[in-house]
Amino acid sequence: MIVLKAAKRGASYKALAQEVQYYRSGLEMVRMANVYMQEGNIDAAYILYIRFITLFVEKILTHPEYKTVSADVKMQNKKKLKEVLPIAEKLKLKLKETYTKEYQQFLEAKRLEKEQEEKRLREERDRAKAAPPVNLPEPSAPSLPPSMLVDPGMLDRVLYPNDFPTDPNRSSGGGLLLPDTKPFPKPAFDRTLKPSPTSVQAGSLRSVIVPTNTMAKFLALASHNTTSNVETCGILAGRLAQNRLLITHVIVPKQRGTSDSCTTMNEEDIFNYQDQHNLITLGWIHTHPSQTAFLSSVDLHTHCSYQMMLEEAIAIVCSPKYQE
Ligand SMILES: [Zn+2]
Repeated sequence: MIVLKAAKRGASYKALAQEVQYYRSGLEMVRMANVYMQEGNIDAAYILYIRFITLFVEKILTHPEYKTVSADVKMQNKKKLKEVLPIAEKLKLKLKETYTKEYQQFLEAKRLEKEQEEKRLREERDRAKAAPPVNLPEPSAPSLPPSMLVDPGMLDRVLYPNDFPTDPNRSSGGGLLLPDTKPFPKPAFDRTLKPSPTSVQAGSLRSVIVPTNTMAKFLALASHNTTSNVETCGILAGRLAQNRLLITHVIVPKQRGTSDSCTTMNEEDIFNYQDQHNLITLGWIHTHPSQTAFLSSVDLHTHCSYQMMLEEAIAIVCSPKYQE
């Protein structure tokens, strides 16, 4: 639990411009990409680097409030872009190489399979030819029971599978459909092409790991405020590891609270602390000193801004009074 006590005057968290938040989450994006890169998950790393580049080379320029972002923040971002562009370029080549190789392997596997199937069919045919002819006794028509006699007219009404869709005249006869005895080729399935379990899939959320003592520790820290019926809030921060988001820190910034609100101050300090310790913002936590634990409409709005930056962002509400 980190308590930031610096008391310099600053903008409140809620008043912070959305663009600055974008810029900061951009840096966190790169932080996550770096982790994927270190773990050898280059697909995921590449996706995040490209997302970062697209966001800050193209999209941000069209934002109506782009001009209000300080030159300082923009500079920092430009520096990051310069770092990321060559990395992404290298990754792209590497991925292209990998995928090309995999595709070649896939084609080769398919070719082998076809070859084997053809060989098998050839052998089957050869075996059938080589087999000695079976001397069946000449069937004498009168000895067959009447039910086994084939009505010569029926032969015309036998429908062969190949005729079926193209010969409407035959199908109008309502004839028999002979089953196709040709074996179907087995569908090709290359197990080496299975995606790795840590690959990032569109729309899938990563797990967020919350240490079980997080709430108890936070409540202990907040107890003074709680007895005065004042809310306490903190930022949940942590790191990415093996495609899971681990909460490792609760950052408690300088703040001002009432019985049903809490405003963080000195945003810069939170940001600097996270930057120094390589921490990603994973959500937030706050107390309801005299109410039950629920997300108020204000809380939902606050949470929306967290989720815009990170889909998996979580909100924790602690109600000491109702022990929720
Ligand atoms: Zn609340």
